[in-house]
Amino acid sequence: MSYQALYRVWRPRKFEDVAGQTHITRTLQNAIVEQKFSHAYIFSGPRGTGKTSAAKIFAKAINCEQAPVREPCNECAACRGIQDGSISDVIEIDAASNTSVDDIREIRENVKYASSSVPYKVYIIDEVHMISNNAFNALLKTLEEPPKHVVFILATTEPHKIPLTIHSRCQRFDFKPITNQAIVNRMKYILERENVSVSDEALETVALAAEGGMRDALSILDQAISYSEDVVELDDVLAVTGGVSQDVLTEVVQAMFDRDVQKSIQLLDKIIQNGKDPGRFVHDLIFFMRDLLLYKSAPSLEGLLERARVNEPFQSLADIVSNDWIQDAIIQLNQCQQEMKWTNSPKIFIEVAVLTITNRYNEPEHTDSVDSEAVMQLTQKLSRLEKELEQLRQTPVASGNQPVATKERKRPARTGKNTYKIPYDRIREVLKQAEKQALKQVQSGWANFLSKLKGMNAPAHATIQDSKPAAASDEALVVAFKYEIHCSLFLDHKDTVESVLASILNKQLTIIPIPEKDWQELRADFINKHEASGESTSKKDQSTPLIDEAKKLFGDDLVEIHE
Ligand SMILES: [Zn+2]
Repeated sequence: MSYQALYRVWRPRKFEDVAGQTHITRTLQNAIVEQKFSHAYIFSGPRGTGKTSAAKIFAKAINCEQAPVREPCNECAACRGIQDGSISDVIEIDAASNTSVDDIREIRENVKYASSSVPYKVYIIDEVHMISNNAFNALLKTLEEPPKHVVFILATTEPHKIPLTIHSRCQRFDFKPITNQAIVNRMKYILERENVSVSDEALETVALAAEGGMRDALSILDQAISYSEDVVELDDVLAVTGGVSQDVLTEVVQAMFDRDVQKSIQLLDKIIQNGKDPGRFVHDLIFFMRDLLLYKSAPSLEGLLERARVNEPFQSLADIVSNDWIQDAIIQLNQCQQEMKWTNSPKIFIEVAVLTITNRYNEPEHTDSVDSEAVMQLTQKLSRLEKELEQLRQTPVASGNQPVATKERKRPARTGKNTYKIPYDRIREVLKQAEKQALKQVQSGWANFLSKLKGMNAPAHATIQDSKPAAASDEALVVAFKYEIHCSLFLDHKDTVESVLASILNKQLTIIPIPEKDWQELRADFINKHEASGESTSKKDQSTPLIDEAKKLFGDDLVEIHE
């Protein structure tokens, strides 16, 4: 016997099998028993919530030979004929493929005739919002005066696309996303009869991933069953859905809140190396944080949690993180999710988001130890500011006639986490001393350096991995960073990075970061000026105007210089 998917085998045959929609099924049952049912219904709701199943059960119940009944008997000729589709009085139409006016006119012609083998003709039109306006108009004529022996059930995921004139002639039922608990209960019922063992944790995770759809839940369950060895465990479900476990999410949030940059980045790296989907991870993280916030605000609303199960680690996390911190983190992650849509390397955006959240000042609510740490950081910041202020006082104000380009700044001072002030003068000094040989030496050791750094300090590596050496003298190295934000994040790891680089090159270089786009400008500008003043650039810098022009046009990577 060929294998049948669970959701096909276990399509509900009775109202009581339709999970999580008792507010609808009970109303329908009462109307059927009292013979007061309507002749036109709209069943709206997300996919996989039981709309067409309920429609078919309704068709059986009103046509059952035992009628009036609360449930179809599923034994009589009428019930069986409707179930297997052999009775032509119950017609299922997929509006996604039958949307022409002619199709609807045909229905209109046919409704006039009495049903042939059961009392009621039932038209179930799925995805009804897909039919054209003209077709709706044709349908409207029928709905205005439906014959007594006809029932229309219009199912749709997008009720707002159905004209008001149709709405006003139908009784509408809104199918809700099925609660996780209802999905779990239904799966348990099915699994008992299929003789398959699945751990509770795994079932809950299937329900979370299905997002309120029974059909999705059963197809994930199907995949997990074929993936697993014997008993279906949490890992089997996570492997099928590409999700990460709540334990991992808890650990990531905890590390970010502890401002443990190294651990946050290492966890992220591991998640992605394990083949988890980056988009899915951010999505799950957002929902996890949302649940954390909800739980903190109203612990009694545990039933409304979408992603998280309340366990001990979850509770202790909720105890320490502040609402503000979570809200901030959610904003960062949301932004990251938007940006990820337009890139082929989503990992960078997640890293930046994780670093930003991790580096953010957090305001713990209950822990004194973290509290004092925060105070210490503030004190450090304050004394740094005082020092800078003192320096400013001692430096005479620059006279107005000094030619300074508008973008230039005298000192490489940092004012905030995300703004990086480029030390133009220092970079120019390096350019004047730059040696092609020195740059070549750095370039040849760069890959080694990156891999050594990654092993020693992942967060530091994350800040510099997308950058490249741009110019080098005997003492300093200008590094062009693809993302401006990485320049300022890099400064937190400057000493570590420089010492690792020194261990590879056997000489100490001071690294000066500059965003790539500013580097291109500065470099072109520098070369122009030197040409104008008659100095030769070919010796100090590795480019000639021609090559430089070519690089400007095609980018550094695409131009190879053959001597
Ligand atoms: Zn029956």
